Amino acid sequence: MNPTVSKLLTITVFISISTMGNLFSDEEGKIKWSYTGDTGPEAWGQIAKEYELCGVGKVQSPVDIATKEAVYRKFSTIKFYYQPLPIDIINTGHTIKVKSDKKSYIDVGGKIFRLHEFHFHLPSEHTINGKYYPMDVHFVHKSDDGEFAVLGVFFEQGNNAHPELEKIFNAMPEERGRKVKQEGILVDISKFFPANDTFYFYDGSFTMPPCSEVVEWYVFEKPISISKDQIEQFRKLYPGNSRPTQPLHQRSVYKNKP
Ligand SMILES: [Zn+2]
Repeated sequence: MNPTVSKLLTITVFISISTMGNLFSDEEGKIKWSYTGDTGPEAWGQIAKEYELCGVGKVQSPVDIATKEAVYRKFSTIKFYYQPLPIDIINTGHTIKVKSDKKSYIDVGGKIFRLHEFHFHLPSEHTINGKYYPMDVHFVHKSDDGEFAVLGVFFEQGNNAHPELEKIFNAMPEERGRKVKQEGILVDISKFFPANDTFYFYDGSFTMPPCSEVVEWYVFEKPISISKDQIEQFRKLYPGNSRPTQPLHQRSVYKNKP
């Protein structure tokens, strides 16, 4: 191959890879922040101008869901078009994130949101009547016009290991910043959703800096069950990676079932 052409190709490949990197970091800011100490949640708004909303925003997440206050609103169901997903995981330094191959999407009232990634928090970020679940998972979807829909599912402790979570946790890198890819193992992501499709929904933000207020949240009422060992497996890497609940201010939390 002509050396100039070869060099150009190398540059093109490099650029497309770095663009992909940006796409996947929608939720996480680049300037150092943490869940404890001087760069913890109380300080996020002051760390950088880009993180200002974390401190002064009025539609922030997560929130406590007071079930008696939730307003019933008729809602067309969320339709799932999820495909089995190959293992592609990064330990971001704030969570374990599973990247999507973009083949999976949801249809919310006729609008398509493509799955970008999902990741975990311990304990849960949203709470129900002040109660935390041991963990939760957030499925981050984005529409072509730049809106985000995040689906949250609580994990409760049960007797059995969750087989799809096991595939992820067995592969997840312990070292922060490391990535793992395993094309041969497919995760059935539909297994992370409860059979009961009652959910709460409200307008909010990402729960990590820069805390952008661009998220339609859908939090499923019923938890799914994982084992104690699985909770401990995650706790070894992240003993606490959830943001405290934020004030609702003028917002209502809605529920799709009376
Ligand atoms: Zn999250």
